[in-house]
Amino acid sequence: MKTCYFCKGPVHRRSIEYMGRKSNGYYLVKDVDAEVCDNCGETYLGPESVELIDSAWERITEAQEHLQVPVVHSSD
Ligand SMILES: [Zn+2]
Repeated sequence: MKTCYFCKGPVHRRSIEYMGRKSNGYYLVKDVDAEVCDNCGETYLGPESVELIDSAWERITEAQEHLQVPVVHSSD
């Protein structure tokens, strides 16, 4: 079994939501195949998942859903 690079915890394959950032905003990709550390939550993406995330940005105009993201400033 794989272990986490950072904390040596157990790493398991699962489907995640990936939050990406581009200069003009954030985007979310659902059902991304990843390996996640049970202990610290560190996420490891394989080359196919990186490819999927990049191609999702290129197809962003086909997005099925849009979310509103609340923004809180720590001081005003
Ligand atoms: Zn870890």
